[in-house]
Amino acid sequence: MRAALKLQRGVLVFCLGVAGLLPLAAKAQSAAVAPYSGPIFDAHLHYNDDAQSAFPLDAVLRLMRDNGVRGVLANSRPNDGTRTLASAQREAAAAGVVVVPLVRLYRNRADYTGWFADASIERMVADELSRGTAAGPYRGIGEFHLYNNADADGATAARLMALADQRGLTVLAHVDDIAIDRLMAHTPSRGASTSLIWAHTGIGGTPAARVAELLQKYPRLMGELSYRPGLTCDDGLLCPEWRALLLRYPDRFLIGSDTWVNARWSSYGALMQGYRTWLGALPPDVARRIAWGNAAQRFGLAEPGPLR
Ligand SMILES: [Zn+2]
Repeated sequence: MRAALKLQRGVLVFCLGVAGLLPLAAKAQSAAVAPYSGPIFDAHLHYNDDAQSAFPLDAVLRLMRDNGVRGVLANSRPNDGTRTLASAQREAAAAGVVVVPLVRLYRNRADYTGWFADASIERMVADELSRGTAAGPYRGIGEFHLYNNADADGATAARLMALADQRGLTVLAHVDDIAIDRLMAHTPSRGASTSLIWAHTGIGGTPAARVAELLQKYPRLMGELSYRPGLTCDDGLLCPEWRALLLRYPDRFLIGSDTWVNARWSSYGALMQGYRTWLGALPPDVARRIAWGNAAQRFGLAEPGPLR
């Protein structure tokens, strides 16, 4: 009995000792992880009219260059900002940045809430697609928002989804999980061949299991991870559930800045550093895919060369 008690005490002391060491061990582990140092593709970039005076072209290209961002999925309200970026081929090349342009569906703030049923948006998109940009044809449409998933059935939303599917255009959509199903239902392939990038991968906190279900169901669905609730934990590394999801679908996730307001441009370096921190704790091949490779494959980009 006494011996058993002694043993229990010993175990207790041992357990307390281990418990005491654990936070230290975890700290040491995150401190020991080197941040990801490879190229980044920013898959959610806006260069809106209100950003252009505070952050002129040379300033945004410098931010990209300084942060190892070698490609961007660019869109803007209105589309002039994207054309400005796409026209600056010499400057972008000097910064080592490839611009992949998307047609934004918004001419102004008012379009956010009614675009899905507005036939004039469809005409604007058709005009932009036929006009193209100095950096080549537009590669897709978006970002668009649906604050009510029933609006995914609006006539314009339905026709634009069908158009994107037929023409192999990528769609960048800020929507909930139900709207993903509704949008896909409007495509001729029923989502089998639709390239949809899910902005924020469920900004309302769609459970990871539901995200997995959608990734399984739609083979060309990708999740972009800005603002995703529950993605990272206190140490700046991925929370266990999300680490498991990214490891299970390493070819289906992207990262982005979402420079929707100027404050995001002001913190561009910190945002990219945040990504580099958690990417650094993933297996190197997975980190590189999420940071660069998945977008490079989707948009047919060459390996970035050394910066001059
Ligand atoms: Zn956005």
